[in-house]
Amino acid sequence: MPANESGRTAGPSVLISADMEGVTGVTWTDDVVPGTEQWQRFRTMLTGDVNATVAGACAGGAGGVLVNEAHLSQRNLLLEDLDTRARLLTGRHKPLSMMEGIDSGVDGAVLLGYHAGSGCEGVLSHTYLPAHITGVWLDEAPASEGRLNTALAAEYGVPILVVTGDDRACADAAEYAREAEHVVVKECVSRYAAVCDPPSVTAARIAEAAERSMRRAGRAEPVVSRHRIEIEFDASHLAQAAAAVPTVAETGLRRIAFEAETMTEAMKAFKVVTSIADGAVQGKYG
Ligand SMILES: [Zn+2]
Repeated sequence: MPANESGRTAGPSVLISADMEGVTGVTWTDDVVPGTEQWQRFRTMLTGDVNATVAGACAGGAGGVLVNEAHLSQRNLLLEDLDTRARLLTGRHKPLSMMEGIDSGVDGAVLLGYHAGSGCEGVLSHTYLPAHITGVWLDEAPASEGRLNTALAAEYGVPILVVTGDDRACADAAEYAREAEHVVVKECVSRYAAVCDPPSVTAARIAEAAERSMRRAGRAEPVVSRHRIEIEFDASHLAQAAAAVPTVAETGLRRIAFEAETMTEAMKAFKVVTSIADGAVQGKYG
């Protein structure tokens, strides 16, 4: 397909939200903590999983791919090794955070390197805060980052095309994004152990799924509705700190909840609440 002036071809455009815990081979905290030797090593695995997705999506007809960094500092991918058909949104402090770019007119989204939610079994399972959130519920349903971000994508009419991660992340995705391709790159043994396939094996699996998924690319009618998010922390003072945010109410000793008119507003409030709670954590006592 001929490229237009912006370097894009005429096919549908895809957003890849690239997290890291669910990437090929990742099982340990150091693997995903910026600055460590293992993180440096796993940046290559993350870039490999992303490149496999780009290759598959383009083989399936994608005309443009935007990769949005979604893990911690949001500066993990190796731009110098990125497939030249993709562009990279790197760095943090973005209004829609893990899903920045979902409002830019894309025709499908990929949740790459995702993981099970807090309190659930799965490699490096958590929802936003790794240690101090013990549960999140979206409209009463237990909510991983994948479920929250899928609801956000729906508000812009964007279908989730592919979810990659361990077997637990994929079982979760089967609940919130049933029609997406679910690509298992490792099988969970414990929160810090997994049986892993080598990157060349997972790359082929990811690329095939991404290519197949492009049949579903194309925006649907946006689903805009009121949402309620409830969060349980591991200590009472974190709930008290979060309840200082307007519209947030304590619903139990360690629980808070809030409602918002749209998922975009709910996720902005979620970001504020988790930031305030994170700031209230006190050393080893949490
Ligand atoms: Zn992450």
